[in-house]
Amino acid sequence: MINLIPATPENVKKAAKVIRRGGIVAFPTETVYGLGANAFDERAVGRIYEVKRRPSFDPLIVHVATHEQLERVALTIPPELKKLTDAFWPGPLTVVVPKNPQLPAITTAGLETVAVRMPDHPVALFLIQEANLPIAAPSANPFGYVSPTTARQVAETLGDAVDLILDAGSTPIGVESTIVTLRNDKILLLRPGGLSVEEIERVLGRKVEELKSEDPLAPGMLKRHYSPKSRVVILESWEKYYRLRALYRRVLLVLPKRMCGVEGDVIFLSERGDLREMASNLFRILYAADRKRYEVIAFFPVPERGLGKAIMNRLRKAAGI
Ligand code: AMP
Ligand code: MG
Repeated sequence: MINLIPATPENVKKAAKVIRRGGIVAFPTETVYGLGANAFDERAVGRIYEVKRRPSFDPLIVHVATHEQLERVALTIPPELKKLTDAFWPGPLTVVVPKNPQLPAITTAGLETVAVRMPDHPVALFLIQEANLPIAAPSANPFGYVSPTTARQVAETLGDAVDLILDAGSTPIGVESTIVTLRNDKILLLRPGGLSVEEIERVLGRKVEELKSEDPLAPGMLKRHYSPKSRVVILESWEKYYRLRALYRRVLLVLPKRMCGVEGDVIFLSERGDLREMASNLFRILYAADRKRYEVIAFFPVPERGLGKAIMNRLRKAAGI
């Protein structure tokens, strides 16, 4: 693959030039690999939708490296959201705020708001600084498929359709950012992700409210998403696992932590049952299971606290429930 190159400083500078000229570049962030374009370039952003086969109603997240860049894309930043960006940026937190009218409609799928975040990854930050532009970047995978946590996964699924892929190994967090907004004086969670709700609540000193999935405020939050080709099943009991094994020949069992004496092909999300480690392994396991052509990937649920909330959200979407 000629467009897959290591993220050396020279190559990041080269990638920044590609972006300034209207190209699209896949790059690592601390959450997953993103597919980036100049957020102000309609044609380049249009190519992202095309390459991903992403529906035009699904808005992109704009990535910035400085607070000045935030002001270029946002009209205003409510004080409570500012408090969050002060506390957690750079980091896996996206805020949805009123958009600057200069930002093309295609970047926000026609919405009057824009989703913005400052990623906590040296390559991503260097790329945005060198390009000297806010970079619109969804995850670098075909629409509806699992988000990539390595450059190789990007190369395998998008290949030559992107101009460059910067390789900096696996992404440390491994699930997408947490998205919040402020509406009617409420802090709303639009998507659980790499920053836990508990941490947000600690900084704000009040509860974060969950959004109902059918709410039009969260376009793109489709029920079926992050799905591998293999069927994903969430197990409520061991009985269900044994029933699946009677029905299918190739079943991969995924357990939250190490357990001895289980029959069949088994893999552990984390050896020691650590939620951070589970999140960072989740998408890699889905990719690997798909490549090995398992018919079913059967997950035992993980505790829904901290990053466990994001893990279960992705699993339910992968299972289509
Ligand atoms: P990703 O595919 O990880 O880049 O995530 C993009 C998601 O962010 C979209 O599918 C939306 O759910 C959410 N999003 C982006 N922009 C907005 C916005 N202006 N308002 C609400 N949600 C947004
Ligand atoms: Mg995505």
